[in-house]
Amino acid sequence: MNIIMFFLVGLLVHVVFFISIFDIYFTSPLVHGMTPQHVPLPPPAKRLVLFVADGLRADSLFKPDINGTSRAPYIRSIIKERGTWGVSHTRVPTESRPGHVALIAGFYEDVSAVAKGWKENPVEFDSVFNESRHTWCWGSPDILPMFAKGATGDHVYTYTYPAAMEDFASTDASKLDTWVFDEVKAFMNSARGNQTLLSKLHEEKNVFFLHLLGLDTNGHAHRPMSKEYLENIGLVDEGVAEMVSVFEEFYGYDGKTAYVFTADHGMTNWGSHGASHPSETLTPLVAWGAGLQTAQRASTTQNYNDDYLKDWGLETYRRVDVNQADIAPLMSSLIGVPIPLNSVGVLPLQYLNNSLHFKAESMYANAIQILEQFKVKVTQKKETTLSFLFTPYQVLTDSKQMEFVRHTRELIQKGQFQDAIRHCETLIAQALEGLSYYHTYDRFFLGSSVVLGFIGWTSYVVLVILKTHASLRKPPTSRDMVSGRGFQRVFIGVGLVVSFFLLLQSSPFTYYIYCLLPVPVWYFVFKEFGILVNLIKSIPSLPLSKCFGYFLLVTFGIELLVVSFFYRAMLTLGLIILGLWPFVSGLYRKAKSRSVSWVLSCLCLAVFPLLPVVGRESNINYVLCAGALTLFISCCYLCSSYGRTGLHMRDRRLFIGQMLQVLLCVYVLASTHSSLQMKQGLPLFSQLVSWATLGSSFFVPLLSSTRLFHRLLSILLSLICVYLVLSTGYEALFPPVLSWLMFVWINMEQEAVDTQNVSSRTELYSIDFAENIDLTRIRQLRLDDIRRSYFFVFFIIIAFFGTGNIASINSFDPASVYCFLTVFNPFIMGGLLMWKVLIPFIIVMCTFESIQVSTRLSSRSLFLIVLVISDLMALHFFFLVKDYGSWLDIGTSISHYVIVMSMTIFLMLLSVMTHILTSKRILIGQKMKMHFKNHEPQHHKQLHLNRKHKQLFPL
Ligand SMILES: [Zn+2]
Ligand SMILES: [Zn+2]
Repeated sequence: MNIIMFFLVGLLVHVVFFISIFDIYFTSPLVHGMTPQHVPLPPPAKRLVLFVADGLRADSLFKPDINGTSRAPYIRSIIKERGTWGVSHTRVPTESRPGHVALIAGFYEDVSAVAKGWKENPVEFDSVFNESRHTWCWGSPDILPMFAKGATGDHVYTYTYPAAMEDFASTDASKLDTWVFDEVKAFMNSARGNQTLLSKLHEEKNVFFLHLLGLDTNGHAHRPMSKEYLENIGLVDEGVAEMVSVFEEFYGYDGKTAYVFTADHGMTNWGSHGASHPSETLTPLVAWGAGLQTAQRASTTQNYNDDYLKDWGLETYRRVDVNQADIAPLMSSLIGVPIPLNSVGVLPLQYLNNSLHFKAESMYANAIQILEQFKVKVTQKKETTLSFLFTPYQVLTDSKQMEFVRHTRELIQKGQFQDAIRHCETLIAQALEGLSYYHTYDRFFLGSSVVLGFIGWTSYVVLVILKTHASLRKPPTSRDMVSGRGFQRVFIGVGLVVSFFLLLQSSPFTYYIYCLLPVPVWYFVFKEFGILVNLIKSIPSLPLSKCFGYFLLVTFGIELLVVSFFYRAMLTLGLIILGLWPFVSGLYRKAKSRSVSWVLSCLCLAVFPLLPVVGRESNINYVLCAGALTLFISCCYLCSSYGRTGLHMRDRRLFIGQMLQVLLCVYVLASTHSSLQMKQGLPLFSQLVSWATLGSSFFVPLLSSTRLFHRLLSILLSLICVYLVLSTGYEALFPPVLSWLMFVWINMEQEAVDTQNVSSRTELYSIDFAENIDLTRIRQLRLDDIRRSYFFVFFIIIAFFGTGNIASINSFDPASVYCFLTVFNPFIMGGLLMWKVLIPFIIVMCTFESIQVSTRLSSRSLFLIVLVISDLMALHFFFLVKDYGSWLDIGTSISHYVIVMSMTIFLMLLSVMTHILTSKRILIGQKMKMHFKNHEPQHHKQLHLNRKHKQLFPL
């Protein structure tokens, strides 16, 4: 396999592994083809009014203020007298769309929506609105259309304000709610003069849906503890009271209207939602009117394990909690329409004020409706699985289902309603469990074939490393060739069997890819069988205990990196362990001061992962410190290197220029900051300097000498200039500290190489990036190179998580680009922030490049080791992909997987870039070019004199 082929195959393998998670984890649970279930008894209500206060927390509504008066007096009076109340427990992600889907369609939105964008309908689904005769909706253009679009026929009417009004309402979001209330009043008034509308309104099974977005908007803008949010609750309460009187008056107080008041999700104290904090998942539910139980006194202490009842002053009123999806069957039962076909809700009987007979029949309909979904799912699975491989869900076989139907009907006929209800509840629980059993049926099979492919690929890479870069090479014998042909036949056979098997199961085409990919991958692994044999043969000559030690260390190290994706603080631990390296490896005895420097820099860097990322205050003083530190470091370096190698006049001028630039950048940042604080806007001078710094950072390093440390210093100075103007706080200190550690690392690696063979000692200071690497001097891989590559991966991850998290770039402070622009421009801002994120990577990559040059290793073999390390990490993240949780959790778990898998490609691109940055040089003027081709220190001194001489007599 040549290198391009290898690259393409690797890319293909990774792309397939990535796509596979969508078939394994994110598949729609919805099935189609069920029959709607009707309750044979008349419903208690003719119409239903549903209020959804978007983003209303349970405690914000229920808890009285400090004086003990309620913010929502009308709703509280209902809780105390006319209705039933409780907490509706929502599921993550606590977002508007999934919340409304659970409320109105009764199922928890499938996560496949993640991949398909959640504003559109990923699938057609049934809802209470769809089952109703007519539904009128008022509210936000983000929510209403999805229920109208999903409905069959046109019996769902939506009235939305223009999207621009949501912006317009930014001064006072409660206007969104007032709009809804006013529209409903106007609508009901207009109906009196419109005969067709009037007759529609007087039909049965009608739904009115009032979506109140004001609270959500106010909560995001001002947080839930604010005056705005709390006053908005009062406004909603008044509005609900007014709406009830409007409806009651319109229908002549016929007592046939049911009211449900709830929320789609809550909100955290800092004004966000999406995750699983109780403030987000606990929402209020209050229901009253036709068919609903009036307030009940709680005779004994209520069975809820939280302290809310006391907090809310509602201990004596019976509380009935529900899951959010249970509200859909409740609403269906009230107006007598079939429960939405995909609903997984269970009818909350305690809310109903009706005969036991009605309750039993409703519960039976609920059970059959869920059983229908189960049956469809079983049929689907049976069709796509070979009969002898099919393992059915044992709890709910066909005969057990039939037995259930017979027995429950019998109980209802005999009037044993309580027994019948209990029976139905058991069946619902079993059917729901069965549904999830079949939903995840293929997961194990697909998962293991993907993992098999992954392991095969990684083993192949390991074999390639051994074959080309380690000293195990041995010419292939003719016997190997023969068995190679045999292998080929065996693997083609296996491939055919797998395809035939999938064909029989009529699997989707993607399954073929996942299952067939491991076959060629493993074929190549077995083709390299000879290497494995050689490896086994050479085992006695290998330092076994050392190998084993390395294996343990690297395994532990990879685990540590995986955990650090979840807990940044793990990197601190990693850095402290790394600090011990000179003592473990015995380098301390050889280079005492360098080892101490190594430990100190590790400890300094270890502080950064402990510092917070989000919500910190900007502090310019840190940036000033960082500027001073950079200048101090470069001065120290220049002084120490001056004695050793001498510094060309040209370089000296460049360095002084660059150090002045650092000063200028610090000044620009400080002045911009103070001018913005005084609201004087961004000074043009600052803006010009910032952009000039950014632009020059790409080519100024190319002007400097290609001497290892000279070039590195020049790169560092120009990168730090950019970083400084993009910083607002402590993160400005990160690149200087990181580069200190990197500087020590280069020195330590040199020592480590010297320990192994003294003969090839090269003075670090005399190494030149531009020198052509002598291919004969490239050495074989050693065990130590695994450690080197691991260090590299570790530092890359430090660069990644050191000051923040690249995966949540939106958590970056926009204040950090204020030196460049103050008007909001997502593209430029994003670009600048990306560049800021990249800078630490470039520092690490340049260091790695230096180490490759100084230890004479081929970058290809090192990248292969990095590939193995990152693939092993990706395998971890494959198992950690989440299909449950907030969008953020799900998104993060996917992004971890993607980040780790694409790490190698990213690093390869970065390496090309740093190679140019380190080894290319722009020379201005023909004469000087000649001089810089010499690199002997003595020559340099002479040239130095020559140049001084020349300057005296300029040409
Ligand atoms: Zn919402
Ligand atoms: Zn929101």
